Amino acid sequence: MTSGPDYGFDTLQIHAGARPDPATGARQTPIYQTTAYVFRDADHAAALFNLQEVGNIYSRLTNPTVAVLAERIATLEGGVGGVCCSSGHAAQIMALFPLMRPGCNVVASTRLYGGTVTQFSQTIKRFGWEAKFVDFDDTEALAAAIDENTRAVFGESVANPGGYVTDIRAIADVADAAGVPLIIDNTSATPYLCRPIEQGATLVVHSTTKYLTGNGTVTGGCVIDSGNFDWSASDKFPSLSAPEPAYHGLKFHETFGPLAFTFHGIAIGLRDLGMTMNPQGAHYTLMGIETLSLRMERHVANAKKVAAWLEADDRIDYVTYAGLPSSPYAGRVAQHYPKGAGALFTFAVKGGYDACVSLVNSLEIFSHVANLGDTRSLIIHSASTTHRQLTTEQQEAAGAGPNVVRVSIGIEDADDLIADLDQALSKATA
Ligand SMILES: *Cc1c(COP(=O)(O)O)cnc(C)c1O
Repeated sequence: MTSGPDYGFDTLQIHAGARPDPATGARQTPIYQTTAYVFRDADHAAALFNLQEVGNIYSRLTNPTVAVLAERIATLEGGVGGVCCSSGHAAQIMALFPLMRPGCNVVASTRLYGGTVTQFSQTIKRFGWEAKFVDFDDTEALAAAIDENTRAVFGESVANPGGYVTDIRAIADVADAAGVPLIIDNTSATPYLCRPIEQGATLVVHSTTKYLTGNGTVTGGCVIDSGNFDWSASDKFPSLSAPEPAYHGLKFHETFGPLAFTFHGIAIGLRDLGMTMNPQGAHYTLMGIETLSLRMERHVANAKKVAAWLEADDRIDYVTYAGLPSSPYAGRVAQHYPKGAGALFTFAVKGGYDACVSLVNSLEIFSHVANLGDTRSLIIHSASTTHRQLTTEQQEAAGAGPNVVRVSIGIEDADDLIADLDQALSKATA
């Protein structure tokens, strides 16, 4: 089925991008477990290599199973095209790569997934790229941080580790005025809770490892393009607007129009960076996506119940969940995230570091893991794990102080999750 604009989300999450297999009639999308594809003849091969005809050459660039997933996610996000890759972190590099050059910078939110903070503040420097971090609630500071070398603005819709939701429209207005694209990491919200392109984002990135797959089986990522950015309006984006020597001087934007970013992602990004998603992984994610809306509804309902119970418990200092009526972001959630603020949040336990360690050791249903967006409920004590190399001040600035744990609420019975937290908190604060 191609993406009929009239179909609802529940229909598209099952059908978009997929069609019965032309060779066998198989109803489910087959896993095309192949490295290469036979050319019809030498002219066909030449046309493919010149990008004059679209088709499969080699699975580092394209694969039919992976292509169904890319089209599925692009449709759910309301984008024109997408590129799948090997992880969420790969997707972030793939999104920045066509935009950046040595000496260029990305202006990023201070509230990001910890791994993204490390990737942006440390690793991208090796490419000669720089990240500047600003508070996205301060749009004036954001506007001031954008300079003539800025090539992207980057934030998360519902920001890890929870408790913060971005006013994407307000951020998009600032990026638009400066003539730079806005990239939104929509991993924690998923297109069911938030569609960043409708609110003005240029590109959307995902760690498909999380809710899109939904069951903690495979890592993957994708970059979705809105098709709305005019890459030729300035000379800031020569990868997309200027002649590409590796394809006989072809100009991606002129040749492919709104699909320029997607074609560049495949023909240059995957070809040369090689951060390819494998078809087996795409299959697991396609299975997961079929039930995305059902899972997200339950994730949100459970998160609301568990967060409200924790907030009322006197062993807890505070709960940072944007889905709570007491959250400073409650108004923003009602306006921009009417289906909910996700299922990821932190809470602070009276008794500090030791009580948190005891809590994670005493839980029976919750798993102590460095992951989120699984059907299972997950918990992590950041100060003793992901953030243990940081000073206490740095941990607190990241919302991961010694007394704080992060939970990713699953789709089990909420009452069982509450009972599990209750018994473990009794042990932890005894
Ligand atoms: C997990 C995650 C990433 C990184 O994704 P990987 O698939 O682990 O590489 C990026 N952003 C957010 C919000 C995440 O949760």
